[in-house]
Amino acid sequence: MMAIISGRKLSKKIREDIKKDVSKLVSETAKIPHLVVVLVGDNPASQSYVKYKKRACKEVGIKSTVINEKESITEQELLTMINRLNDDESVHGILVQLPLPDHIDENKVIDTIKLQKDVDGFHPLNLGYMLLGRDGILPATPKGIITMLKSENINLEGKDALIIGRSNIVGKPLGTLLMKENATVTTAHSRTQNLKEKCLRSDVIVAAVGRPKLVTEDMVKPGAVVIDVGVNRVDNKLVGDVDYEAVKDKVSYITPVPGGVGPMTITSLLQNVVLCFKRIELT
Ligand code: NAD
Repeated sequence: MMAIISGRKLSKKIREDIKKDVSKLVSETAKIPHLVVVLVGDNPASQSYVKYKKRACKEVGIKSTVINEKESITEQELLTMINRLNDDESVHGILVQLPLPDHIDENKVIDTIKLQKDVDGFHPLNLGYMLLGRDGILPATPKGIITMLKSENINLEGKDALIIGRSNIVGKPLGTLLMKENATVTTAHSRTQNLKEKCLRSDVIVAAVGRPKLVTEDMVKPGAVVIDVGVNRVDNKLVGDVDYEAVKDKVSYITPVPGGVGPMTITSLLQNVVLCFKRIELT
C-alpha cells in the first residue's frame, strides 16, 4: 500500500506543539524568541521563501524581523550588521537568505554568524558537531526529512539509501543523518555513472537536484521510499525531481511537491529558533 507523507499535515501538527512550547517559554522567561532574517537584493524566489518563513514564525508566536538590504551592500557592511545582531541580546536566531550577490563571500558571512544564533545550521562548527553526532543545530531540510521518515516509523536500519545531489545544505548533511539512523548511504551527483542501476537497488531514494522527472518509474524498485526535495517550475506549476504520477503507485511512501519537504524545512527552522532561544535564555 502506498502512502503519501504529507509535509503539510505533519507540519501543522508539529507547529501546534511549537506554539505551545513558545507560549510556555514566553511566560517563563518574559522574553520572546526572535528570528532576524537578512535578505539582500530582490531575487523573487528568495523573497517568497522569506515571506513563508515570516508567516510561519507568526503562526507559532516567534517574533521575526526581516532586514531588506540593497544588492549593492558591501561585504564589510553586511559583516558589521551580523556582528551587531550577534551582540543584540533580543535576537536569538540569525538567518541570511542565500544566495548572496557575487561580490559577497558566503563563507565569510556564514562564519561570522554567532554559533548560538545559527538557526540554519550552516556554520562550519555546527556542521562539524553534526558530523561527529554531537549536539548542534541541524540544517533544516535534512532535519525535516528525518522527521518525516520517523513520523511514519520507517525503519532505516541496514537499508540502502541513495541521495541524489551533494549540496552543502541538503545532500551532504542528509548523508550523515541517514548514517546515524544506520542506513547504508550512497551519494550520487552530476558525475555519477549508472544512476538508474543505483536507484533500482535502493530502499530509500532522496532526489535533491533541481531537475524535473530525473527519477522515473523504471528507476524505482517496488516498495521503495521516495523523498522528493526538488523544486522546479514547469508551465507555471511547482514540481519536484520525481515523476510523481508515474512513480507513486510503485512505492511504499512518497513525498509530494508542493506540500512535502518544503513545509517541513520551514517547520524545522522554527524548531531551530526555539532550540537557540532555549540555549541562550535557559542555560
Ligand atoms: P544544488 O542546486 O546546490 O546542486 C544540485 C546537485 O545536483 C549537485 O550536487 C549536483 O552534483 C547534482 N546533480 C546535478 N545534475 C545531476 C544529475 N544529472 N544526476 C545526479 N546529480 C546531479 O542543490 P540544492 O541546493 O540541494 O538544491 C537541489 C534542489 O532541491 C533544488 O531544486 C532546490 O530548489 C531544492 N531544495 C528544496 C528545498 C526544500 O525545502 N524543499 C530546500 C533546499 C533545496
